[in-house]
Amino acid sequence: MQALTVLGSTGSIGVSTLDVVARHPLRYSVFALTGHSRLKELVSQCQQFKPRYVVVTSTQSADWLKTRVPVETQVLSGSEGLAAVAGDDQVDVVMAAIVGAAGLEPTLAAVRAGKKVLLANKEALVMAGGLFMAAVRDSGATLLPIDSEHNAIFQCLPESFVCGATNANLNANRQVKAKNSALGIDILGVRKLLLSGSGGPFRTTPLDELSSVTPDQACAHPNWTMGRKISVDSATMMNKGLELIEACWLFDVNEAHVEIIIHPQSIVHSLVEYADGSVLAQLGNPDMRTPIAHGLAWPERIESGVAMLDLAAAGTLSFEPPDISRFPCLGLARAAVRDSGDAPAALNAANEIAVEAFLEGRIAFTRIADVVDVVMQGWSTSEPESLGAVQDADIRARALAREFAFGPKNQ
Ligand code: NAD
Ligand code: MG
Repeated sequence: MQALTVLGSTGSIGVSTLDVVARHPLRYSVFALTGHSRLKELVSQCQQFKPRYVVVTSTQSADWLKTRVPVETQVLSGSEGLAAVAGDDQVDVVMAAIVGAAGLEPTLAAVRAGKKVLLANKEALVMAGGLFMAAVRDSGATLLPIDSEHNAIFQCLPESFVCGATNANLNANRQVKAKNSALGIDILGVRKLLLSGSGGPFRTTPLDELSSVTPDQACAHPNWTMGRKISVDSATMMNKGLELIEACWLFDVNEAHVEIIIHPQSIVHSLVEYADGSVLAQLGNPDMRTPIAHGLAWPERIESGVAMLDLAAAGTLSFEPPDISRFPCLGLARAAVRDSGDAPAALNAANEIAVEAFLEGRIAFTRIADVVDVVMQGWSTSEPESLGAVQDADIRARALAREFAFGPKNQ
């Protein structure tokens, strides 16, 4: 029986996680659930899973919850509450499914406590990849990618691959002499990673119509049902840009070894190219319960509730290169990962502000990339030595993004 904390249990990934967990009551018990809004759903989750703790962001929410959750569930609040349930001695597995920068601290708390961490919150790695991966190595935490593309790549890599192992460890494990190469995993015979992405709802929309698309249109993803922030990121393809950065950290490669390929059907979730010309892919219906079940049970396999893939019914699987003029965020993300240091944190922060402004109807869809671009143009990159330095970069980039999006007096 493994004890599980779900950070962000009321979100799209959180709900899918609990759906898989409910199918395996003898394997998993829920230790803690956390949420920011949708408090009624959080109460229902507590009634169903009877966790030891539930954590909310504010003390007002905590007071509201106290009279409504089962007696065995204790209510905590704030960042201390989140860190406590992420790192508690009794927890075996932590699903990191809070959206955005807010997920960084609790996810790091789980990593530092050496947990098995199922990482959906890609923004944590984008912001603080260096510190994050160093913490994984130091604590011996087991890091498993849940983002479908990274989970697919992980499944296509040899079993000996470990996220966060240094090249030296890999070499020692495999008793292969270290080679002087840009690509850490090339000793496993890997030449390239191919990240697939659907191209989102506007892949074929005439370019001159993009400035007038609405938030609801942007959130209507053709294949996946997700939270609103990541849905907008998919429409701009900033999501693929963030995933590029995420892949560089998880798999210890540089950006030149990660190719982005558009695959509108979202059946092939990503691919790994090997030195001998083999390309391995992971396929499945687009349903996050597959990578979630993979992470939960790894290295075993369990039932996830996802319908089996019917390839004949799926019909044609097509691929095309991304159009950078349609998706300028891809170029911005590549530039940020090349700059390294705190540039990806600034990119992520500017993007969060721009997406929020678009969802509130305050800026046009096409201005999202403009806001990020202006922040990055003026950004002078430095190497963050601490979490505080990352958070400082995040705050500065948010302020710059707000200023550009709304004007200095209207933030
Ligand atoms: P969502 O918006 O549906 O849910 C987010 C969760 O985080 C909710 O439980 C919410 O209450 C909580 N939350 C929001 N703001 C918070 C704050 N300030 N403090 C604490 N908790 C807060 O998002 P989602 O689609 O489930 O995505 C979650 C993460 O997983 C994101 O990082 C996303 O990029 C990643 N991801 C999602 C999918 C998907 O299919 N939804 C796929 C791959 C990766
Ligand atoms: Mg993804």
